[in-house]
Parts: sequence; C-alpha cells; structure tokens
Amino acid sequence: MKIWTQIQTQTQPQTAKGVYVLAIEVHGATRVGRLGLHRFDGLYLYVGSALGPGGLKRVERHRAVASGQNRTKRWHIDYLLALGKLKGVFVLETGERLECALAQELEKRFEPAVRGFGSSDCRCETHLFRTSGPWERLVLEAQARVRRRTVGRWSGGRASSTRR
Ligand SMILES: [Zn+2]
Repeated sequence: MKIWTQIQTQTQPQTAKGVYVLAIEVHGATRVGRLGLHRFDGLYLYVGSALGPGGLKRVERHRAVASGQNRTKRWHIDYLLALGKLKGVFVLETGERLECALAQELEKRFEPAVRGFGSSDCRCETHLFRTSGPWERLVLEAQARVRRRTVGRWSGGRASSTRR
C-alpha cells in the first residue's frame, strides 16, 4: 500500500514552504538521538515544518532517509524513517509557523507517542503521535482545520506565481 497525497503548491515548487505530516509504519526499537532507546509498533504520525530557505525540499530529504539513500541522522524523525516505512506525506503550503497548531489538532485525534519528539524548540509535549485505527481522513481533517484558521491572512503565493 502506498499513499502519497499530492503536494500542491501555488508558488514555484523550489521556493514553496509549508508544514506537513508524515505517516510512518514502524515496528522495532531504535535510539532516537538524545531521547534514548524507544520501541515502536504501529502507525506513527509526525508533524514537521519546512519554512527555511530550502522549503519543501526537506520532504524530499525525508523520502531519501526513508529509502536508505541518505543515512545521516540529524533530526529525531531520521531515526524513525531509517527503521520504518513512509506511508504518506500530507503537505499544507504556508509561510506561517503552523506546525504546533497542527500538532495540537493531531493530539485531539491520536495518542501522543514519545515525549519531546520533534518538539525541542517549542512547547508541545511531542510532535509524534500513534494511531491504531483509521488515520488518513483524520489527518486531512486536522490539516483542514488548521488551514481554515488561517483563511483571511493566508495569501499564499498567488502574487509570486505570476512572476517567472
Ligand atoms: Zn510544537
């Protein structure tokens, strides 16, 4: 089974920024950087952001780590990707720091997994969640809620897409 949601961007892909959810199936134990050894068993959802200069190229990097092409372990998520299978990528294009709002929406729908995972730089308990039930529709719903919250101040990249 392979679920890729299409990455839709209004701006040029190479400059697009956004927040995203990765769905990863993991069975086994691995060290997660300074968080130490953790055991995983099931489907996990990770919230990340790609708001830096490289933008959504970061998602491509995640895919490279998941496929074994890239073996560097820089972020917590790298340890999980190296061990598990990437099942889906859900991107919300935005220039705003919405990853924590998205994590809060996921927390309402799924169980928080490893404390501190991906949330060293924010006040969230974690950016990693586990689900034992259906998840795809719920992730889209969480994403839609965050997107709705930004309507009005979310101008996207419409102006820049007319430029070349
Ligand atoms: Zn956060």
